[in-house]
Amino acid sequence: MVTAISRADGAGIPDAACEAGIATVPLVEERSFRQWQVEIPARYRGVGIEDLTARIRAARSAIGSRAVVLGHHYQREDIIQFADVRGDSFKLAQWAAEQRGVEFIVFCGVHFMAESADILTAPEQQVILPNQAAGCSMADMAQPNDVLKAWDALQREGIDGIVPVTYINSAAALKAFVGRNGGIVCTSSNAGAVIEWAFQRGKRVFFFPDQHLGRNTALKLGIPDDEMALWDYDWPFDDLGGNRVEQLRRSRVILWQGHCNVHARFSVEQIARARRDYPNVRVVVHPECTREVVAAADASGSTEFIARQVAEAPAGSVLAIGTEINLVNRLANEHPDKTVFCLDPIFCPCSTMYRVHPAYLCWVLEELAEGRVVNRIHVDGETAHWARIALERMLQVR
Ligand code: SF4
Repeated sequence: MVTAISRADGAGIPDAACEAGIATVPLVEERSFRQWQVEIPARYRGVGIEDLTARIRAARSAIGSRAVVLGHHYQREDIIQFADVRGDSFKLAQWAAEQRGVEFIVFCGVHFMAESADILTAPEQQVILPNQAAGCSMADMAQPNDVLKAWDALQREGIDGIVPVTYINSAAALKAFVGRNGGIVCTSSNAGAVIEWAFQRGKRVFFFPDQHLGRNTALKLGIPDDEMALWDYDWPFDDLGGNRVEQLRRSRVILWQGHCNVHARFSVEQIARARRDYPNVRVVVHPECTREVVAAADASGSTEFIARQVAEAPAGSVLAIGTEINLVNRLANEHPDKTVFCLDPIFCPCSTMYRVHPAYLCWVLEELAEGRVVNRIHVDGETAHWARIALERMLQVR
């Protein structure tokens, strides 16, 4: 199995394109490429965007219907223009699970999404991630070994009735872990229904890796703060994640202390400024934002939800959005009759999504057109078996 490199964002500022805006430049000029130098033949590194666009079109028409390109909402415009299907993690996983006729799925997203697609598709279908370094810093915060250690500690202390729930932003090994232990995967589209599903089967939920999605969802379901615990996976002093055993016994939700560096940038101050500048603004944020931001917003939900909110708002509406900038800019362009802007004035895309530069898409498609598969994502059979069980439960819960 391929492991993604997703060392993302250090102090919370993504490493790509913040200063330069988000126009696509030749790969060799992008800061993230200069930092990580991820494998790609030298002949692709200096090609300009116009040439890449023409070559991607030519390769696609040579491959025809044998391949489909999927694009996550957070992909840059120069990639999303080639997507046959675009959506959030849930929609793209659902789409992959329903396909049988397509030989190659070129997944323009990040590593865990391509793994999920590989798990849900038939063995003869091949999933390609154009840049193998496109990981997810949040997913990396829940290393399978750390989660297993935490699970063992909880069992040892007699904390009973736990149903493990992993956000889809996690490694295949963790999805397999929850599948094996009666748990389930969730996305931001169905997190509430999934937690209810878990409570029908146990007394408490162990939720990873995103503390914010877990907390925001639990609060919406009426679970109070004192029935939640936070598991600090970096806690150096004991093996209970910085918790006392009594607190864990009281908890109905145990949250892994992971977060998304992109969504952690949104703040209550930004919302206050948007309201000051536009008194009639509607603020819509992603549930990976902090609880304070979600509480100060008018609505919160998945990227599909956010896109629907913008589409359904009457002409003349003003919407301030708390999610990744490529999606916000796209929504603004698609709805010129409305004012749509990002809450964060510093335009930082998700640095790992941004690693799918058109040069990588061009490379994998030109190879495919020549009958060669590069950058395939393949999950081993045992992991895929258990992860599929957890993912299929996810697809059934809405
Ligand atoms: S936006 Fe956040 S959660 Fe989504 S892929 Fe990027 S780092 Fe991961």
